[in-house]
Amino acid sequence: MFRPILAALLAATALNACAAATPEQQIVNDAASALGGRERVLAVKTLVLEGGGTNGNLLQDMTPDASGQAFLVSGYRRAIDIAGGRARTEQTRTPNFAYFQGMAPQRQLSGIDGDVGYNVAANGAATRVPNTTARDRRAELLHHPLTIVRAALDPAARLTHARTAGGERVVDVTIADGSTCTLAIDATTRLPTRVVSMTDNANLGDVAVETSFADYQDVAGLKLPARLTMKTDKYTTATLQLTQQRVNADTGDLAAPAAAASAAPIAGPPTPVVTIEEVAKGIWLLAGQSHNSAVVEFDDHLTLIEAPQSEARTMAVIAEARKLRPGKPLTQLVSTHFHSDHTGGLRAAVAEGLTVITHEGNAGYYADAAKRPHTLAPDALARNPKSLKIETVGEERQIADRTMSVELYHIAGNPHADTLLMAYFPKQRVLVEADAFSPGSATQPYAANLLENITKRQLKVERVVPLHGRVTPFTEVVRAVP
Ligand SMILES: [Zn+2]
Repeated sequence: MFRPILAALLAATALNACAAATPEQQIVNDAASALGGRERVLAVKTLVLEGGGTNGNLLQDMTPDASGQAFLVSGYRRAIDIAGGRARTEQTRTPNFAYFQGMAPQRQLSGIDGDVGYNVAANGAATRVPNTTARDRRAELLHHPLTIVRAALDPAARLTHARTAGGERVVDVTIADGSTCTLAIDATTRLPTRVVSMTDNANLGDVAVETSFADYQDVAGLKLPARLTMKTDKYTTATLQLTQQRVNADTGDLAAPAAAASAAPIAGPPTPVVTIEEVAKGIWLLAGQSHNSAVVEFDDHLTLIEAPQSEARTMAVIAEARKLRPGKPLTQLVSTHFHSDHTGGLRAAVAEGLTVITHEGNAGYYADAAKRPHTLAPDALARNPKSLKIETVGEERQIADRTMSVELYHIAGNPHADTLLMAYFPKQRVLVEADAFSPGSATQPYAANLLENITKRQLKVERVVPLHGRVTPFTEVVRAVP
């Protein structure tokens, strides 16, 4: 006697489900069907992907637009525990360019386990990564057709803004923890084509991180992509061709190593420590951590060389620079090159009203960087917008008044970057440079070219003030060149 009631209930439920299929749900349902059906998709517990490809050299390439420097990736293995929200990636990467750490292959191991992101070094030591990196890795868990469609099928997920664009149908997905991403499927095959999530990048501001899927293959009754391409903004950060894909295979232990799991969360960059050393009258080295700056005193103003790392670091450096000569305004920033670690404080310097002086090859990128939206993590310039004041240098430029003279030169042909400037003080015989020579570095792949540029211009350098490391006699540069 219960049967008719049960049947009626089931029929009503089915009818409701049909009637309630919004355009948003239809996109997710279509994707699930194309991948092998809702039940098969929901039955997947783990995924193990293996293969190889390339990694890009994001904002560390020869030019701001990137010249194609890459790391070749081999031995790639990514194991994902879908329900557990855990993943671990191992790979070996080998640079196809003159890398500052040398050309030897590097084994890398990184992972995410809930809120804990971690890296494991070659010697086995595990460290916790900053919360922002962990957040990006959690978002990346959804950057696969199976994980995003499963998440979107969850009744707790909120699906919004169904639309058609080009040959794609697109829907925004907000999952239970509040994070949002966008799923695009092919309008014809209904297979997922892309997942996009937004994140904050200190240099680029609000950026889209996109993984696109191609080369779908049959795996255990499912269709899975064998080719994945990842981009941050317009930059390709990874390409992967998978040679093996296993569903519900043993992933091994994906728990965060104890050293990382028990470490305190890292909420922001380290507290800035700024030390001051007078290199010569009117020239100071501001050091204290991994990236240095220099301050130069002119008759009526101060000039800062380099705004590195982060807003916090650069603001601390600017504050110390202003204390050196309280009567003189700090008005200029010389930026040696565009690499992300040397320009993390560029926007802070613009917010502080400094005029930026840099190689002409950096100008377009800096103009863009100063204008980009930073709504996800508003910085000083986002809170107080100012337009960029910029002066560019081609091969050389002198900045001089009656008390100080500095010559800026392009370090031409350097394999580290096409847009590197060095600053030479002829009277003091001091050279300030970034990355072309870093004392204490195990390899010095850029020093020969630096020496060539110094010789070509007949500079009488006695001491080098590096933007990584300590003040060094020039003989150290000569010694570093075989
Ligand atoms: Zn660099």
